[in-house]
Amino acid sequence: MKRVGAHVSAAGGVENAPLNAQAIGARAFAFFTKNQRQWKAKPLSTRSMEAFRENLRRVGIEPRHVLPHDSYLINLGHPEKAGLEKSRAAFLDEMRRCEQLGLELLNFHPGSHLKKISEEACLARVADSINWALERTAGVTAVIENTAGQGSNVGYRFEHLAAIIEKVEDKSRVGVCIDTCHTFTAGYDLRTAEACEATFAEFDAVVGFRYLRGMHLNDSKPDLGARVDRHESLGKGKLGWPPFRYIMNDPRFEEIPLVLETVDPSLWPEEIRRLYALCASSSAEA
Ligand SMILES: [Zn+2]
Ligand SMILES: [Zn+2]
Repeated sequence: MKRVGAHVSAAGGVENAPLNAQAIGARAFAFFTKNQRQWKAKPLSTRSMEAFRENLRRVGIEPRHVLPHDSYLINLGHPEKAGLEKSRAAFLDEMRRCEQLGLELLNFHPGSHLKKISEEACLARVADSINWALERTAGVTAVIENTAGQGSNVGYRFEHLAAIIEKVEDKSRVGVCIDTCHTFTAGYDLRTAEACEATFAEFDAVVGFRYLRGMHLNDSKPDLGARVDRHESLGKGKLGWPPFRYIMNDPRFEEIPLVLETVDPSLWPEEIRRLYALCASSSAEA
């Protein structure tokens, strides 16, 4: 089964996220377990943790279909010692919050070299950071997201994801999340079924579908290869509907969270409905 949802608000407490997901017709969701623009956060209260688990059960969404996203401040490939240590501590805290909520995945952007070290050195640091965090936690998988390659961000080539995974010791607890907007603006075409076929064949050869733990479904404001990260509502950007029709009809994308991070939350119920309709219409034709 396909599990479509969106990156929903956790305002007022993490326990509200599952309810916000249910309200838009989602079968999966993403959220921030803390304020994503701040380094420090108050620990989750026992009451909040229990309410989250209870609400998740009530809305019928399984932990493996929830893809929390870490803070944008964290840079696990930071070129400087102080910045790296601060990022690792914050990332560990985020992994522990996921554990406390009974969740299995934590999605993050790999990092940035800030023009102070090479891409290779940065990718090696990201892998070291993941190893460091996995040693101190249990049960949560580190899910690396591919990037648009904006600024000095690494992770815009499938080879970057593969290079990180190669250096992670516990391969059972590392995975990837592929963002359609980032993939496209990084230079991989997705505008037709044929282009999707070629791009996902390349992904499978370089990284492997066995590592795919989630997808971000976004249309793109910038054009192919622009290396700029700006999402658009589905069907309103440079991608159009073909990649989403492709994903909704390909069994390789089943039972993983397919998460909208599109720009207009008021459209999410309609976007989710249309995605499921793509799936249904195609299987009716077949
Ligand atoms: Zn994304
Ligand atoms: Zn993005």
